[in-house]
Amino acid sequence: MVGASLALALASTRLQVVVIEAVAAGSAAQPSFDERSTALGNGARQILQTLGVWGPLAGALAPIREIHISDAGRFGFARLDAAEHGLTALGYTVPNRQLGAALWQALASAPRIEVCSPARVLAMQPGAQRAQLTLLGDSGQTRVLQARLVVAADGAHSLIKQVAGIESSERDYQQVALVANLATDRVARGIAFERFTSSGPLALLPLADGSYTVVWTLTPEAAQRMAVADDEQFRRTLQASFGWRAGQIIRVGTRARYPLSLVSAQRLRAERVALIGNAAQSLHPVAAQGFNLGLRDAAMLAEFIATAEDPGAEDLLARFAQHRAADRRGMIGFTDRLVTLFSSRRGAAIAARDLGLLLFDLSPSAKQALSRLSWGFGGTLPRLSRGLSLSS
Ligand SMILES: Cc1cc2nc3c(=O)[nH]c(=O)nc-3n(C[C@H](O)[C@H](O)[C@H](O)COP(=O)(O)OP(=O)(O)OC[C@H]3O[C@@H](n4cnc5c(N)ncnc54)[C@H](O)[C@@H]3O)c2cc1C
Repeated sequence: MVGASLALALASTRLQVVVIEAVAAGSAAQPSFDERSTALGNGARQILQTLGVWGPLAGALAPIREIHISDAGRFGFARLDAAEHGLTALGYTVPNRQLGAALWQALASAPRIEVCSPARVLAMQPGAQRAQLTLLGDSGQTRVLQARLVVAADGAHSLIKQVAGIESSERDYQQVALVANLATDRVARGIAFERFTSSGPLALLPLADGSYTVVWTLTPEAAQRMAVADDEQFRRTLQASFGWRAGQIIRVGTRARYPLSLVSAQRLRAERVALIGNAAQSLHPVAAQGFNLGLRDAAMLAEFIATAEDPGAEDLLARFAQHRAADRRGMIGFTDRLVTLFSSRRGAAIAARDLGLLLFDLSPSAKQALSRLSWGFGGTLPRLSRGLSLSS
C-alpha cells in the first residue's frame, strides 16, 4: 500500500518509476491488500485526496464520528467526538482490498509509471552511482534494472533493507491480532469501539455496509483457539469479551491472524536506498497508525525526490531521514507505551489506565491532541498532507 502510494505521488514528475510487486494486486494471496480494513486518519485522507484516489473510494469509506474507549469490567471510559473538534469525522475505515484496487487502478492509468508485477526482487547490488536489482518474473524469466534510487517498501522483513546492511530492532509482543468482519443486530453508525480486555485490546471499526471489522489482540494460544473455533463458539466468546455496546453479534466472517511485533529499522537510508512504510517501522495495530505513518514517509520522500537532479543523492536521503525522525520516534514510542499499559494485568497499571481514561475524558486539550494524531507527531508536515501538490 505504501509503495503504490509513493509511485502515485511521483506520477506527475519527470522521474521514471518502476513499481515491483511480488504478488499481483487482485490475487487472494496479496499480503498488503488482504482481508483487513484500515482506519485512515484525516491526514491520510488529505494525502489520498491529493493523489486522486479518495473520490473512487467514496462508496467503500465508513466515517468514524465517535470513538468509545473503555476498560472491560472497570470504570475507565472515554469518548472522542468529531463534532466537538469541528471535524466531519475522526477518520474513515476502508477495506484493504478496495484501497488496493483504487491505488492499483490509478497506477495503471499513470503513463510514466511501469508496474512490474508479479515480479520478485531477488537481489540488489548497491553502487555509488546506481543500484542494480535482479527480478524474477512469474514464469521464471529474470530481468536486471539499474536505478539511482531504490525505495524499500517491501514490508517489515524487507529484503532490500537486509541487503543494504540496515539493521532492525525487533520486539515480539507475544500477541496475535485476530481479524474478522462481523454484523450485529444494530447497524454500525459511525462509532468505533476500543475496548481493553483481560486478553488485550479489542477494536471494532464500522464498515460502509453497516457491519464491523474486529481487531482482537490475544495471546498466541488464545488466537489459535479462536481461529479454529466454530462460528458460534467464536461469536459467543467475542460477545462475552466485548460486551453489548454495539448490540448482539449475529454473524461472523472469516478469521485471519497476524503475529505482532515492533520492528524498527536503525536507519532510513543506505547507499542509493531509502526505507518507507513497514520496511522502516512496523507497529502494533492498537492505535491504527502503521499505514498512516507509512503514508507520511511516502509523501515526504516524494517531496524530496520530485524535482531532484539525483533522487538517490546521499545528502538528499540524509535530509529525508532527518525530516521523518520526530514523527517516527513519536509514533513508535506512543504505540509501544499504549501496548504496554493496556495489555498489562498488574493492579497498578489497571488503576493508572482507568485514571488516565477518566482524565482524558475530562481534558479537551488531550482529546484535541488525539484527534490530530494522524497529522503526525511533529517535524515538518509533508506538502501532500497539507493538500498541496508536489509541483505548485
Ligand atoms: C491487524 C492489523 C491491522 C492494522 N490496522 C491498521 C489501521 O487500521 N490503520 C493503519 O494505519 N495501519 C494499520 N495496520 C498497519 C498497516 O497494515 C501497515 O502499516 C501497512 O500494511 C504497511 O504497508 P506497506 O506497504 O509498508 O507494507 P506491506 O503491507 O507489508 O507490503 C509489502 C509489499 O511488498 C511486497 N514484497 C515483499 N517482498 C518483496 C520482494 N522481494 N519483491 C517484490 N515485492 C515484495 C509484498 O508482496 C507486499 O505487497 C494494521 C496492521 C495489522 C497487522
